Parts: sequence; C-alpha cells; structure tokens
Amino acid sequence: MTTQRTFSIIKPDATRRNLTGAINAKIETSGLRIIAQKRIQMTKAQAQEFYAVHAERPFYNDLVSFMTSGPVVVQVLEGDDAVAAYRSVMGATNPAEAEAGTIRKEFAENIEANSVHGSDSDENAAIEIAHFFSAEEIIG
Ligand code: ATP
Ligand code: MG
Repeated sequence: MTTQRTFSIIKPDATRRNLTGAINAKIETSGLRIIAQKRIQMTKAQAQEFYAVHAERPFYNDLVSFMTSGPVVVQVLEGDDAVAAYRSVMGATNPAEAEAGTIRKEFAENIEANSVHGSDSDENAAIEIAHFFSAEEIIG
C-alpha cells in the first residue's frame, strides 16, 4: 500500500443539514487525514465542468442544479490507498445499496443528494485536486 491523496466534496445536502463535522469524523476515524479543506459556493460553470463526464446522462442538469444549490466543502484527503479507502468509507452511489456504517448509508438523502463525492482514480484525484487547491493550500 502506498500513501495517496484523493479529492472529496461534502455536498449541499450535507452542509444544509449541518453534517460537515459528522462526515469529517467518519473520514478521520477511517484513518484518512484531511490535509486541505475549504467551504465554497460552486458556480454553475464549475459544476458543469466537474461533472462533464456525465453531460449526456438524463440527470446531468439536475445534478448541476443540486451541486450549486448551497455551499460545499472541498477537501484533500491523504492516507493508505486513499482513493479506494475513501470510496469504501463513502459507500455505494445509491444509499439504498450502501453498506451499514458508510457515510452514504447514514447520511445520504437519495441517489443524487448523496452527501459526498470521492475521486474514482489516482489520475482523476490529481486533476480534481489541482482544480480546487493551489499547492500552498495543501499541508500534508
Ligand atoms: P461521485 O462522483 O459524486 O463521487 P459516484 O462516483 O459514486 O459519485 P457517479 O456515477 O460518478 O457516482 O455519479 C456522480 C454523481 O451523480 C453521484 O454521486 C450522484 O450525485 C449523481 N448521480 C449518479 N447517478 C444518478 C442517478 N441515476 N440519478 C440522479 N443522480 C445521479
Ligand atoms: Mg464519480
């Protein structure tokens, strides 16, 4: 196992319900370290670009509206196999299918408002981190 970084977003459904700390506790309890974090309002253009891979999917416009519907908390997480480790802490995309104890099982409202994002590969993690953080903002 190698130490890696991944990119996380605490989504608007979670910030709206004051769950930032509860989600961060799950992240830290898992052994991942939060090495950068800031609360932002995503612009429509940022959300469209972030989810461009889903541009042809029927839920794309709703997803962009949702991600810009309130503040989000963007984060860089570091730890052993961080990309895979965080996806297992998050649980399945659809909370109905997520394992007990995962963030999405405990907190997600539905398949869209599912409380968190986590990168799906090392390559995408690096791209996503660079999109939201400068090197000086990441203190490992
Ligand atoms: P994320 O990329 O947010 O970490 P993921 O990798 O588990 O989640 P993706 O398939 O990449 O899931 O979908 C990106 C996001 O789009 C999901 O997290 C969810 O918010 C939304 N989404 C995915 N599938 C659907 C769907 N069928 N209906 C509505 N929204 C969806
Ligand atoms: Mg994804």
